[in-house]
Amino acid sequence: MDRCLALELASTIRHDGDGGVADDLSDAPGLTRWLSERAELLAGAVGTTPHTAGSTTDSTTRFTTGSTTGFTAGETDRAAVVAVREAVRALFAHAVSPAPPSPADAQRLISVADALERLNAAARRVPVSPRLTWPADGPPLRQLVAPGATRDPLDALTAALARSAIDFLAGPRREQLRACTAPRCVRYFLKGHGRQEFCKPSCSNRARAARHYQRHHEPATASRTTKD
Ligand SMILES: [Zn+2]
Repeated sequence: MDRCLALELASTIRHDGDGGVADDLSDAPGLTRWLSERAELLAGAVGTTPHTAGSTTDSTTRFTTGSTTGFTAGETDRAAVVAVREAVRALFAHAVSPAPPSPADAQRLISVADALERLNAAARRVPVSPRLTWPADGPPLRQLVAPGATRDPLDALTAALARSAIDFLAGPRREQLRACTAPRCVRYFLKGHGRQEFCKPSCSNRARAARHYQRHHEPATASRTTKD
């Protein structure tokens, strides 16, 4: 399945394996690391489509030069990316409703209207236009390019993240989005096959164990009393 930058951004808030919640973007070095691990995906986000590994397209060069390679994030960058993430997670929560959102931020989600405004404002900062290229040895490619050589790397980054979220939320994959309901899990994931309920087999196992525990350790009367 194609990777989705918006989903990966949302997933920087995750279960820490120890009952708590970890945030990969809790400090600026965390953002630097996250970006360097996604250089290719981010390059692809500007040159949106079939980006063959190893090829250097125009937009790849532009984005890489302007942004993530050797990009050391500061606190301003982190705050801006986290602001986009807040908007994405609020809209993910909206997308999965009436099912419950990820419990990680269910208590402090910004409103849908604010999230839309924030996302659209980020996308607006770098207007892009489509451009067709046709390599001699391959199929034609649709790319998005930004005019002008003096793009601000942070604007380019937040706009790419916002565009990814817009494409995802307005596209067919939105309907596959789920918040994992396994105990302690806080992930959003794309439901693959028909019966998939949890983000990973380990979550499925944990949920099954929790159900088993409940059935065998909670007195039947207790649940009956709470229902009455
Ligand atoms: Zn899970």
